[in-house]
Amino acid sequence: MSSQSNNLVALDPLRPAPSSRTVLFGLDAPGLQKVVTEAGEPVWRVRQLTEALYRQRVATLEQVTTLPLALRRRLVEQGLQIGRPGILQEFRSSDGTERYLIEGVAGPDTVEAVWMPEGDEGELGDGVEDEGRSWIRATICASSQVGCAVNCQFCLTARLGLQRNLTSGEIAGQVVTILDRHGVEIGKDRINVVFMGMGEPLLNYDNWMAAVRILVQEVGISPLRMTVSTSGIVPGIERLAQEPDSVRPKLAISLNAPNDRIRSEVMPINRKWPIHDVLEAARAVHLRNRERVTLEYVLLGGVTDGPEHAKQLAQLVRSSGIALKVNLIAWNPGPGVPYRTPQSAAVEGFRQALAAEDVPVYLRKPRGRDIFAACGQLKRTVESL
Ligand code: SAH
Ligand code: SF4
Repeated sequence: MSSQSNNLVALDPLRPAPSSRTVLFGLDAPGLQKVVTEAGEPVWRVRQLTEALYRQRVATLEQVTTLPLALRRRLVEQGLQIGRPGILQEFRSSDGTERYLIEGVAGPDTVEAVWMPEGDEGELGDGVEDEGRSWIRATICASSQVGCAVNCQFCLTARLGLQRNLTSGEIAGQVVTILDRHGVEIGKDRINVVFMGMGEPLLNYDNWMAAVRILVQEVGISPLRMTVSTSGIVPGIERLAQEPDSVRPKLAISLNAPNDRIRSEVMPINRKWPIHDVLEAARAVHLRNRERVTLEYVLLGGVTDGPEHAKQLAQLVRSSGIALKVNLIAWNPGPGVPYRTPQSAAVEGFRQALAAEDVPVYLRKPRGRDIFAACGQLKRTVESL
């Protein structure tokens, strides 16, 4: 713990409060049109603004060189700002993972986002990553709320409680700020976005989905490269099922236990929406060609990692009638959370047991352990310093 803490620096308590200016980042084309019309400008300025905000990733109005200088000044005088959230602190892991504390725009708080080069497979450092390759492949993990109201017993974010919902601009802004930080070229580089950071995206549905639409329609990221992870908020999954294929991200459900008894213990929300109801809602999602719903399964040592649990899980997957795959995640420990990381033999045994039953199964490699990369860990750790 002490060697890990060396990577962390205390937050600046004197950081100025967010300004009361009207924030443009996060507005869609109709929202920007309203601003443009109110400023008495022609409607084609909307295109210039969306290009500047979401494609060129310009961070201040003064730098939007496609607008006349006088207009830029006037908009600033009228109290407008781009207001894209900036990176306050950055932590780099030896495996290439970068974790950021990102400033709130609508509040004086912070959220976390993560950059995982080479997807989620941990290949970086194996010596093959730069052999003539001129494109970037990475996964960005974004947060949807400050804290979380869903009281999962193994999760550090849960300890914060729900502090507030992020705005659409704060959600999409994490992604765009990180794209900018790494000079990503959309259309060339292979970027995945996962909403697996702090918070429950489907309990902030409107803002989260508005952010997704901006990322798809304005930034240019395919919804097939985005995954939303939920603890199983049934009304949210039902709404997701209604979204058109052209903007709907893929669905991942944090199952984390093979039956209702254990799931209700580790995820009390299961008492409200048990496994059957969650799968029933997921069944209504129209899957695209070769798409599957992911079941995330955090292995808790001695609680969910036994051979009998693997058997039950395989049975559940087979009888569901849904195209599912399982993502196994070894639990990442956190201060004061009363669980054990599973033994590596148990993890491997669990994976093999599922594979033997023909369940598509992936083992997510731990990333950024040395920078507290588990959900909610960085913020908790920095704040408790
Ligand atoms: N609230 C959403 C998305 C954020 S959590 C959800 O729960 O799905 C993203 C994933 O991290 C979830 O699958 C959750 O089960 C997992 N997770 C939370 N705490 C963890 C920990 N300490 N170690 C490993 N995975 C964890
Ligand atoms: Fe919230 Fe997800 Fe953590 Fe559960 S696992 S407390 S839903 S962030």
